[in-house]
Amino acid sequence: MEGFKFYMPTNVLYGKDIIKEKGSLILGYGKKAFIVTGKGSSKRNGSLNDIVELLKENNISYSIFDEIEENPSLETVERAALKAGEESPDFIIGIGGGSPIDSAKGIGILIKNPEASVEDLFGNVQLESIPLIAVPTTAGTGSEVTPFAVFTDHKLKTKISFTQRVFPEVAFLDPKYHEFMPCSVTVNTAVDALSHLIEGYLCKNANVISDASAEKGFKLFGECINALRAGEFSYEIREKLLLASTLGGIVIAETGTSLPHAMGYSLTYFHGFSHGKANGILLKAYLEFCENAKKTKVILDSLCLKDLNEFGEFIEALMGKEEFVSEEEIIQYTKAVMSNKAKLETHPYKVSEEDILNIYKKSLF
Ligand code: NAP
Ligand code: FE
Repeated sequence: MEGFKFYMPTNVLYGKDIIKEKGSLILGYGKKAFIVTGKGSSKRNGSLNDIVELLKENNISYSIFDEIEENPSLETVERAALKAGEESPDFIIGIGGGSPIDSAKGIGILIKNPEASVEDLFGNVQLESIPLIAVPTTAGTGSEVTPFAVFTDHKLKTKISFTQRVFPEVAFLDPKYHEFMPCSVTVNTAVDALSHLIEGYLCKNANVISDASAEKGFKLFGECINALRAGEFSYEIREKLLLASTLGGIVIAETGTSLPHAMGYSLTYFHGFSHGKANGILLKAYLEFCENAKKTKVILDSLCLKDLNEFGEFIEALMGKEEFVSEEEIIQYTKAVMSNKAKLETHPYKVSEEDILNIYKKSLF
């Protein structure tokens, strides 16, 4: 067997009422917390309240920034960091989907390095963050166990991953926060998790541990297929989707994401596709392009799907028909992908401009 490396430093705690059970783990991180969350869902699903109660019980002071939007912009991160900077918190808590947790990673770096600017999040110098606690309330990005963060850069007119690496210290995973997630968010985020599992599994950097994690993730996802089709989610299904998503995060933390993520960014930026949909509609053509018969069979068998056509139909049934994207547009998006060297390098062999264009065409026309 070839040698490999595997690094997963996040302390993952999973279960109903996990913050009440194991919340005392955060006590070592200091006396002042800065909470980063979205505009509303964490207030409704109980996650923000559970964290606030924990902080109050332990006399930890806190302030809340609750203005993180979907696909968060660098301007928002800068604004939050400015507010946090006035308070000098000891640690930061990201509550919500990938958008607030990713934002907390960027803000945590800017707090720890007051002289740094948002541009430095994309620089060559590695910067540390103050300790980060993550509470994921979507089952999609796996951001609670990855070192990555993705932001919208309006100057570059795209979404862009930062070049820093910030693993959360602790991730509290509680499926009860997911119970009332609307069907559209559930489905879109689940397809993002599936993309992570697939891209990590087929990626050049896959190894025996990331593959074992991906294979377990596919099995769990397969057990949720009927629920996803029906749009009905029991507590048990929520548990499985959350686990599949965290496994997807564990996989990509090691392997990185690959072509669908690189290609999906423009579809989100210019056409407003949700992150899950942007990846999801590319997956069938991507799997065909990868020509990895053995691994594709494992994926299809775990999902109880006969072949890639059935896979494509399943994704289309979940995501709906794609909106119109013109040929000129995909030529422009292909150029953007070709400049994303880091993502191209995760593919097992050299990818040409024509390859990318073909995947877009097969997926969108
Ligand atoms: P999100 O943008 O964080 O949230 C999407 C929507 O879901 C928001 O309206 C949010 O409402 C709502 N929501 C969140 N939790 C909910 C719940 N429990 N019940 C009801 N509604 C809920 O979505 P996401 O898909 O999790 O994150 C996407 C972002 O993560 C993208 O920017 C993507 O590029 C990035 N990403 C990061 C990684 C990584 O490794 N770091 C990997 C893949 C993707 P509120 O705004 O009110 O909270
Ligand atoms: Fe993703």
